[in-house]
Amino acid sequence: MSELNLVGLLPAQMEDLAVELGASRYRGRQLATWIYRKGVFDLQAMSDLPRDFRSRLAERARIALPEVERVTPSQDGSKKLVLRLDDGARVSAVLMPDDDRITLCLSTQVGCGFACEFCLTGTMGLERNLTPDEIVGQLLVANRLLDAGQRVTHLVFMGMGEPLANYPALVQSIRILTDAKLGVGYSPRRLTVSTVGLVSAIERLGRENLKVNLAISLHAASDEVRSRLMPINRSWPLASLMAAVRRYPLAARQRVFFEYVMLDGVNDGADDARALARLLRGVRAKVNLIPFNGWEGAAFARPPLPRILAFQSILLDAGITTTVRWSKGEDIGAACGQLREPVPA
Ligand code: SAH
Repeated sequence: MSELNLVGLLPAQMEDLAVELGASRYRGRQLATWIYRKGVFDLQAMSDLPRDFRSRLAERARIALPEVERVTPSQDGSKKLVLRLDDGARVSAVLMPDDDRITLCLSTQVGCGFACEFCLTGTMGLERNLTPDEIVGQLLVANRLLDAGQRVTHLVFMGMGEPLANYPALVQSIRILTDAKLGVGYSPRRLTVSTVGLVSAIERLGRENLKVNLAISLHAASDEVRSRLMPINRSWPLASLMAAVRRYPLAARQRVFFEYVMLDGVNDGADDARALARLLRGVRAKVNLIPFNGWEGAAFARPPLPRILAFQSILLDAGITTTVRWSKGEDIGAACGQLREPVPA
Protein backbone atom coordinates (compact mmCIF):
# COMPACT_ATOMS: atom_id res chain seq x y z
CA MET A 1 0.00 0.00 0.00
CA SER A 2 1.31 3.41 -0.95
CA GLU A 3 2.15 5.79 1.85
CA LEU A 4 1.10 8.95 0.05
CA ASN A 5 -2.45 9.95 0.98
CA LEU A 6 -4.12 12.33 -1.44
CA VAL A 7 -6.25 13.63 1.40
CA GLY A 8 -4.07 16.17 3.13
CA LEU A 9 -2.39 17.46 -0.04
CA LEU A 10 -2.95 21.06 -1.03
CA PRO A 11 -4.67 21.41 -4.39
CA ALA A 12 -1.37 22.84 -5.74
CA GLN A 13 0.42 19.69 -4.55
CA MET A 14 -2.11 17.58 -6.44
CA GLU A 15 -1.34 19.62 -9.55
CA ASP A 16 2.38 18.93 -9.04
CA LEU A 17 1.66 15.25 -8.62
CA ALA A 18 -0.35 15.17 -11.84
CA VAL A 19 2.60 16.68 -13.69
CA GLU A 20 4.95 14.19 -12.06
CA LEU A 21 2.72 11.43 -13.43
CA GLY A 22 2.89 12.86 -16.93
CA ALA A 23 -0.50 14.59 -16.95
CA SER A 24 -1.43 18.27 -16.96
CA ARG A 25 -1.96 20.46 -13.92
CA TYR A 26 -5.62 20.52 -14.87
CA ARG A 27 -5.88 16.83 -13.91
CA GLY A 28 -4.62 17.75 -10.45
CA ARG A 29 -7.29 20.40 -10.14
CA GLN A 30 -9.95 17.89 -11.14
CA LEU A 31 -8.64 15.51 -8.52
CA ALA A 32 -8.81 18.17 -5.79
CA THR A 33 -12.36 19.01 -6.84
CA TRP A 34 -13.44 15.39 -6.57
CA ILE A 35 -11.93 14.87 -3.13
CA TYR A 36 -12.50 18.20 -1.39
CA ARG A 37 -15.52 19.66 -3.12
CA LYS A 38 -17.52 16.61 -4.12
CA GLY A 39 -16.44 14.35 -1.28
CA VAL A 40 -15.67 11.43 -3.59
CA PHE A 41 -12.93 9.17 -2.26
CA ASP A 42 -12.87 6.42 -4.87
CA LEU A 43 -10.58 6.95 -7.86
CA GLN A 44 -12.74 4.68 -9.99
CA ALA A 45 -15.71 7.00 -9.52
CA MET A 46 -13.82 10.03 -10.87
CA SER A 47 -15.32 9.62 -14.28
CA ASP A 48 -13.75 12.58 -16.05
CA LEU A 49 -10.18 11.52 -15.26
CA PRO A 50 -8.50 9.44 -17.99
CA ARG A 51 -8.24 5.79 -17.12
CA ASP A 52 -4.46 5.59 -17.48
CA PHE A 53 -3.99 8.63 -15.22
CA ARG A 54 -6.20 6.99 -12.63
CA SER A 55 -4.19 3.79 -12.73
CA ARG A 56 -0.85 5.61 -12.46
CA LEU A 57 -2.32 7.56 -9.57
CA ALA A 58 -3.49 4.38 -7.87
CA GLU A 59 0.06 2.99 -7.99
CA ARG A 60 1.49 6.13 -6.48
CA ALA A 61 -1.08 7.21 -3.89
CA ARG A 62 -4.20 6.30 -2.01
CA ILE A 63 -7.23 8.10 -0.66
CA ALA A 64 -7.66 7.21 2.99
CA LEU A 65 -9.87 8.56 5.75
CA PRO A 66 -9.72 7.75 9.45
CA GLU A 67 -11.85 4.74 10.29
CA VAL A 68 -14.96 5.53 12.31
CA GLU A 69 -14.70 3.09 15.17
CA ARG A 70 -17.62 4.35 17.20
CA VAL A 71 -20.28 7.05 17.09
CA THR A 72 -21.76 7.86 20.48
CA PRO A 73 -24.84 10.09 20.49
CA SER A 74 -25.46 12.40 23.42
CA GLN A 75 -28.86 13.31 24.83
CA ASP A 76 -28.17 16.91 23.80
CA GLY A 77 -27.90 16.03 20.10
CA SER A 78 -24.12 16.08 19.85
CA LYS A 79 -22.18 13.03 18.72
CA LYS A 80 -18.72 11.87 19.64
CA LEU A 81 -16.85 10.18 16.81
CA VAL A 82 -14.03 7.92 17.90
CA LEU A 83 -11.66 7.59 14.98
CA ARG A 84 -9.00 4.96 14.52
CA LEU A 85 -5.87 6.01 12.70
CA ASP A 86 -3.50 3.90 10.61
CA ASP A 87 -1.17 3.10 13.49
CA GLY A 88 -4.08 2.13 15.74
CA ALA A 89 -4.08 5.41 17.67
CA ARG A 90 -7.46 6.91 18.41
CA VAL A 91 -8.68 10.49 18.46
CA SER A 92 -12.13 11.92 18.88
CA ALA A 93 -14.04 14.55 16.99
CA VAL A 94 -17.31 15.95 18.30
CA LEU A 95 -20.27 16.98 16.13
CA MET A 96 -22.44 19.63 17.77
CA PRO A 97 -25.64 20.70 16.00
CA ASP A 98 -27.16 23.91 17.28
CA ASP A 99 -30.02 25.74 15.55
CA ASP A 100 -28.75 26.49 12.07
CA ARG A 101 -25.13 25.54 12.72
CA ILE A 102 -23.30 22.27 12.89
CA THR A 103 -19.97 22.69 14.61
CA LEU A 104 -17.23 20.08 14.47
CA CYS A 105 -14.60 20.01 17.20
CA LEU A 106 -11.37 18.61 15.74
CA SER A 107 -8.31 17.04 17.32
CA THR A 108 -4.78 17.99 16.27
CA GLN A 109 -2.69 15.59 18.36
CA VAL A 110 -2.99 12.18 19.98
CA GLY A 111 -2.94 13.19 23.62
CA CYS A 112 -1.48 16.52 24.69
CA GLY A 113 1.80 17.55 26.27
CA PHE A 114 0.71 20.67 28.11
CA ALA A 115 -0.70 19.06 31.23
CA CYS A 116 -3.28 21.66 32.27
CA GLU A 117 -4.34 20.55 35.74
CA PHE A 118 -8.08 20.46 35.05
CA CYS A 119 -7.94 18.66 31.68
CA LEU A 120 -8.34 14.92 31.26
CA THR A 121 -6.60 14.87 27.88
CA GLY A 122 -3.61 16.44 29.62
CA THR A 123 -3.20 13.34 31.79
CA MET A 124 -2.37 11.27 28.67
CA GLY A 125 0.78 13.11 27.75
CA LEU A 126 1.61 13.62 24.10
CA GLU A 127 1.59 10.51 21.93
CA ARG A 128 2.14 12.16 18.57
CA ASN A 129 1.11 14.90 16.18
CA LEU A 130 -1.66 14.31 13.68
CA THR A 131 -0.79 14.63 10.00
CA PRO A 132 -2.76 16.95 7.69
CA ASP A 133 -4.69 14.02 6.21
CA GLU A 134 -5.72 12.95 9.69
CA ILE A 135 -6.90 16.45 10.56
CA VAL A 136 -8.75 17.15 7.30
CA GLY A 137 -9.97 13.53 7.33
CA GLN A 138 -11.94 14.18 10.53
CA LEU A 139 -14.01 16.77 8.70
CA LEU A 140 -14.49 14.65 5.58
CA VAL A 141 -15.64 11.70 7.69
CA ALA A 142 -17.98 13.89 9.75
CA ASN A 143 -19.59 15.41 6.66
CA ARG A 144 -20.13 11.93 5.27
CA LEU A 145 -21.91 10.82 8.45
CA LEU A 146 -24.41 13.68 8.26
CA ASP A 147 -27.73 13.34 6.47
CA ALA A 148 -27.89 14.25 2.81
CA GLY A 149 -28.01 18.02 2.41
CA GLN A 150 -26.34 18.62 5.76
CA ARG A 151 -22.77 19.70 6.22
CA VAL A 152 -20.54 20.89 9.02
CA THR A 153 -20.79 24.70 9.07
CA HIS A 154 -18.18 25.65 11.69
CA LEU A 155 -14.88 24.09 12.70
CA VAL A 156 -13.17 24.53 16.05
CA PHE A 157 -9.68 23.16 16.73
CA MET A 158 -10.61 22.39 20.32
CA GLY A 159 -10.41 18.62 20.52
CA MET A 160 -7.44 16.62 21.74
CA GLY A 161 -4.07 18.30 21.56
CA GLU A 162 -2.56 21.73 21.18
CA PRO A 163 -3.04 22.97 17.60
CA LEU A 164 -0.15 25.44 17.68
CA ALA A 165 2.24 22.73 18.86
CA ASN A 166 1.54 20.94 15.57
CA TYR A 167 2.03 24.06 13.55
CA PRO A 168 2.93 22.94 9.99
CA ALA A 169 0.15 20.32 9.87
CA LEU A 170 -2.33 22.81 11.33
CA VAL A 171 -1.56 25.47 8.75
CA GLN A 172 -1.60 22.99 5.87
CA SER A 173 -5.00 21.74 7.07
CA ILE A 174 -6.38 25.26 7.38
CA ARG A 175 -5.24 26.07 3.85
CA ILE A 176 -6.99 22.97 2.50
CA LEU A 177 -10.16 23.64 4.47
CA THR A 178 -10.39 27.30 3.45
CA ASP A 179 -9.25 27.15 -0.19
CA ALA A 180 -12.33 28.54 -1.87
CA LYS A 181 -11.56 27.33 -5.38
CA LEU A 182 -10.31 23.78 -5.09
CA GLY A 183 -10.22 23.05 -1.38
CA VAL A 184 -13.09 22.32 0.98
CA GLY A 185 -14.03 25.98 0.83
CA TYR A 186 -14.94 27.04 4.36
CA SER A 187 -14.80 30.74 5.10
CA PRO A 188 -11.86 31.26 7.48
CA ARG A 189 -14.21 33.11 9.80
CA ARG A 190 -15.92 29.78 10.46
CA LEU A 191 -12.70 28.27 11.77
CA THR A 192 -11.39 28.84 15.28
CA VAL A 193 -7.97 27.81 16.52
CA SER A 194 -7.72 27.49 20.28
CA THR A 195 -4.42 27.58 22.13
CA VAL A 196 -2.99 27.31 25.63
CA GLY A 197 -1.02 30.43 24.73
CA LEU A 198 2.07 29.57 22.70
CA VAL A 199 3.15 33.14 22.15
CA SER A 200 5.65 32.72 19.32
CA ALA A 201 3.23 30.50 17.39
CA ILE A 202 0.38 33.00 17.88
CA GLU A 203 2.59 35.65 16.32
CA ARG A 204 3.54 33.36 13.48
CA LEU A 205 -0.10 32.46 12.87
CA GLY A 206 -0.98 36.14 12.70
CA ARG A 207 1.62 36.60 9.96
CA GLU A 208 0.20 33.77 7.81
CA ASN A 209 -2.80 35.93 7.01
CA LEU A 210 -5.16 32.96 7.29
CA LYS A 211 -7.91 35.10 8.83
CA VAL A 212 -9.10 32.35 11.16
CA ASN A 213 -10.45 33.13 14.60
CA LEU A 214 -8.15 32.86 17.57
CA ALA A 215 -9.27 31.51 20.93
CA ILE A 216 -7.09 31.72 24.01
CA SER A 217 -7.50 29.28 26.87
CA LEU A 218 -7.01 31.88 29.57
CA HIS A 219 -8.62 30.41 32.70
CA ALA A 220 -7.06 32.90 35.11
CA ALA A 221 -6.30 36.60 35.18
CA SER A 222 -3.21 36.44 37.40
CA ASP A 223 0.10 34.71 36.77
CA GLU A 224 -0.04 33.18 40.21
CA VAL A 225 -3.28 31.27 39.53
CA ARG A 226 -2.61 30.63 35.86
CA SER A 227 0.83 29.13 36.46
CA ARG A 228 -0.73 26.78 38.98
CA LEU A 229 -3.39 25.63 36.51
CA MET A 230 -1.40 25.76 33.29
CA PRO A 231 2.33 24.99 33.32
CA ILE A 232 2.73 26.82 29.98
CA ASN A 233 2.19 30.09 31.85
CA ARG A 234 5.61 29.67 33.48
CA SER A 235 7.20 29.96 30.02
CA TRP A 236 4.81 32.51 28.56
CA PRO A 237 3.25 34.59 31.32
CA LEU A 238 0.17 36.75 30.90
CA ALA A 239 1.96 39.96 29.90
CA SER A 240 3.64 38.26 26.92
CA LEU A 241 0.46 36.40 26.00
CA MET A 242 -1.70 39.50 26.06
CA ALA A 243 0.88 41.46 24.05
CA ALA A 244 0.72 38.77 21.32
CA VAL A 245 -3.08 38.78 21.42
CA ARG A 246 -3.16 42.54 20.98
CA ARG A 247 -0.98 42.19 17.89
CA TYR A 248 -3.06 39.42 16.29
CA PRO A 249 -4.56 40.89 13.11
CA LEU A 250 -8.34 41.14 13.27
CA ALA A 251 -10.78 41.97 10.52
CA ALA A 252 -13.60 44.44 11.09
CA ARG A 253 -15.96 43.07 13.75
CA GLN A 254 -13.70 40.08 14.39
CA ARG A 255 -12.88 39.37 18.02
CA VAL A 256 -10.51 37.20 19.98
CA PHE A 257 -12.24 34.52 22.04
CA PHE A 258 -11.17 33.79 25.58
CA GLU A 259 -12.07 30.52 27.24
CA TYR A 260 -12.31 30.56 30.99
CA VAL A 261 -13.02 27.29 32.76
CA MET A 262 -14.91 27.97 35.98
CA LEU A 263 -13.33 26.11 38.90
CA ASP A 264 -14.99 26.22 42.28
CA GLY A 265 -13.05 28.35 44.75
CA VAL A 266 -10.05 28.63 42.41
CA ASN A 267 -10.76 31.31 39.80
CA ASP A 268 -14.46 32.08 40.20
CA GLY A 269 -14.55 34.95 42.69
CA ALA A 270 -15.69 38.53 42.15
CA ASP A 271 -12.06 39.66 42.43
CA ASP A 272 -11.09 37.24 39.68
CA ALA A 273 -13.81 38.62 37.44
CA ARG A 274 -12.66 42.19 38.06
CA ALA A 275 -9.04 41.22 37.37
CA LEU A 276 -10.16 39.57 34.14
CA ALA A 277 -12.05 42.69 33.07
CA ARG A 278 -8.91 44.75 33.70
CA LEU A 279 -6.73 42.32 31.76
CA LEU A 280 -9.03 42.50 28.75
CA ARG A 281 -9.42 46.25 28.75
CA GLY A 282 -8.96 47.57 25.22
CA VAL A 283 -8.97 44.10 23.66
CA ARG A 284 -11.73 43.18 21.22
CA ALA A 285 -12.68 40.18 23.29
CA LYS A 286 -15.45 37.69 23.71
CA VAL A 287 -15.32 35.58 26.83
CA ASN A 288 -16.71 32.06 27.01
CA LEU A 289 -17.12 30.84 30.56
CA ILE A 290 -16.96 27.05 30.59
CA PRO A 291 -18.33 25.47 33.76
CA PHE A 292 -15.81 22.77 34.69
CA ASN A 293 -16.61 19.31 33.35
CA GLY A 294 -15.72 16.66 35.86
CA TRP A 295 -13.73 13.49 35.40
CA GLU A 296 -12.66 10.74 37.75
CA GLY A 297 -9.70 11.80 39.82
CA ALA A 298 -10.04 15.51 39.07
CA ALA A 299 -9.09 17.83 41.89
CA PHE A 300 -11.64 20.47 40.86
CA ALA A 301 -15.37 21.05 41.00
CA ARG A 302 -17.88 23.16 39.14
CA PRO A 303 -18.97 26.29 41.01
CA PRO A 304 -22.63 26.66 41.94
CA LEU A 305 -24.67 28.37 39.22
CA PRO A 306 -25.20 31.69 41.07
CA ARG A 307 -21.43 32.14 41.28
CA ILE A 308 -21.02 31.56 37.57
CA LEU A 309 -23.76 34.07 36.80
CA ALA A 310 -22.32 36.63 39.23
CA PHE A 311 -18.95 36.28 37.50
CA GLN A 312 -20.61 36.79 34.14
CA SER A 313 -22.46 39.91 35.35
CA ILE A 314 -19.25 41.59 36.45
CA LEU A 315 -17.78 41.11 32.98
CA LEU A 316 -20.97 42.24 31.27
CA ASP A 317 -21.04 45.35 33.45
CA ALA A 318 -17.48 46.06 32.33
CA GLY A 319 -18.73 46.00 28.74
CA ILE A 320 -17.25 42.61 27.82
CA THR A 321 -19.36 40.21 25.77
CA THR A 322 -19.54 37.10 27.91
CA THR A 323 -21.45 33.88 27.47
CA VAL A 324 -21.65 30.77 29.58
CA ARG A 325 -20.84 27.86 27.35
CA TRP A 326 -22.44 24.72 28.63
CA SER A 327 -20.35 22.01 27.06
CA LYS A 328 -21.99 19.51 24.78
CA GLY A 329 -21.76 15.79 25.24
CA GLU A 330 -20.95 15.69 28.92
CA ASP A 331 -22.90 12.42 29.28
CA ILE A 332 -20.74 10.70 26.67
CA GLY A 333 -17.30 11.94 27.67
CA ALA A 334 -17.24 14.38 24.79
CA ALA A 335 -17.29 17.68 26.68
CA CYS A 336 -14.39 20.15 26.83
CA GLY A 337 -11.49 18.57 28.64
CA GLN A 338 -13.02 15.09 28.77
CA LEU A 339 -11.53 13.61 25.61
CA ARG A 340 -9.32 10.65 26.27
CA GLU A 341 -9.17 7.47 24.23
CA PRO A 342 -7.24 4.38 25.21
CA VAL A 343 -3.87 4.18 23.50
CA PRO A 344 -3.04 0.82 21.92
CA ALA A 345 -0.40 -1.16 23.79
N1 SAH B 1 -5.08 22.83 23.58
C1 SAH B 1 -5.99 23.82 23.06
C2 SAH B 1 -7.20 23.19 22.39
C3 SAH B 1 -8.15 22.49 23.32
S1 SAH B 1 -9.58 23.46 23.53
C4 SAH B 1 -6.41 24.75 24.17
O1 SAH B 1 -6.17 24.43 25.33
O2 SAH B 1 -6.96 25.81 23.89
C5 SAH B 1 -10.36 22.69 24.88
C6 SAH B 1 -10.81 23.70 25.90
O3 SAH B 1 -11.43 23.02 27.00
C7 SAH B 1 -9.64 24.47 26.47
O4 SAH B 1 -10.02 25.79 26.72
C8 SAH B 1 -9.43 23.75 27.77
O5 SAH B 1 -8.71 24.51 28.70
C9 SAH B 1 -10.84 23.46 28.21
N2 SAH B 1 -10.94 22.41 29.22
C10 SAH B 1 -10.02 21.46 29.52
N3 SAH B 1 -10.48 20.66 30.49
C11 SAH B 1 -11.69 21.12 30.83
C12 SAH B 1 -12.68 20.67 31.76
N4 SAH B 1 -12.48 19.61 32.53
N5 SAH B 1 -13.83 21.35 31.83
C13 SAH B 1 -14.06 22.42 31.01
N6 SAH B 1 -13.18 22.86 30.10
C14 SAH B 1 -12.00 22.22 30.01
